[in-house]
Amino acid sequence: MNSPLFPELTDLERIIEDGAPHLESRVVCDVAVGEHQFPVYSVSLGNPAPEVPAVGFFGGIHGLERIGAEVVMAYLRSLVERLRWDSTLHQQLESVRLVFMPLINPGGMWRGTRSNPNGVDLMRNAPLASAERVPFMIGGQRISAALPWFRGRKGAAMEPECQAVCRVVEEELLPRKFSLTVDCHSGFGISDRIWFPYAHTLSPIKHLAEVHALKTIYDATYSNHSYVFEPQSRQYLTHGDVWDYLYRQASVSRQRVFLPLTLEMGSWIWVKKNPRQLFSRHGIFNPLIGHRQQRVLRRHLSWLEFLTSAASAYRRWLPTGAAREHHTQAAQALWYRGAGA
Ligand SMILES: [Zn+2]
Repeated sequence: MNSPLFPELTDLERIIEDGAPHLESRVVCDVAVGEHQFPVYSVSLGNPAPEVPAVGFFGGIHGLERIGAEVVMAYLRSLVERLRWDSTLHQQLESVRLVFMPLINPGGMWRGTRSNPNGVDLMRNAPLASAERVPFMIGGQRISAALPWFRGRKGAAMEPECQAVCRVVEEELLPRKFSLTVDCHSGFGISDRIWFPYAHTLSPIKHLAEVHALKTIYDATYSNHSYVFEPQSRQYLTHGDVWDYLYRQASVSRQRVFLPLTLEMGSWIWVKKNPRQLFSRHGIFNPLIGHRQQRVLRRHLSWLEFLTSAASAYRRWLPTGAAREHHTQAAQALWYRGAGA
């Protein structure tokens, strides 16, 4: 079996090669497409000790949303370059572990499909069903793999790409006292959004205070940012969200804080600027013009850098006692009672 290359896979393998002295990389699983086979990589750097916090950067779960993979790889590339000269980065990496899975669905990306090669939508595939009213089709369906948002057959094991994500999160992130993740997507709405769980229920998570405290320091530090923070459930509910599934698994332990975030890049921004993109399936999910793509990559890089700094210094901002109660109430007022943003 051979592995045909495509630009994102070539880029990722080059970054792994260039960063070799500082990176640990492994192939978590291989995905077969006909006679071809594609590796799903995970790449780690920084202090591996379980006492330090960690951040996971994920991209390319949906094969059509190439910009998500590119944003994650642009950050990894910039870290590899900075490691050659930046002693403050070397110092920072003593207090944090960084884990990257930029290309979770290489088979889908190679074929140009949202789903994986089995026709399964990897964001609908976790063993977790919503008991509430999810929107028809888009919330996840078991009618046919030929239709979008297919959850996989009832009772079947999780798809190998999803299992790979779970394995990396369980091994590298969940053993720690504090970790957060960001999974990069595009295709929804006219604003850039930061989503947090839940996706399967309108009920709030147990760590509203922690998410609200993170938003508070981000708002204060980047006062002109344009992200909308909200639980995914404010937009639509789904079955099988892998981050809901992992969050619930992590929350069994009361000592542990695991905050899985999703970056949804508002692709209608670039479609509005270039309406011809509507006629290209690739163009709806990705900026087509070079300078626009540069701007998208640059804008989100500072968000990924922020997450690294926030995780490595989490003890300075994670609320406790009365402050935690205050954040919980503010978060409930903002996201769960009436209007907010
Ligand atoms: Zn997506």
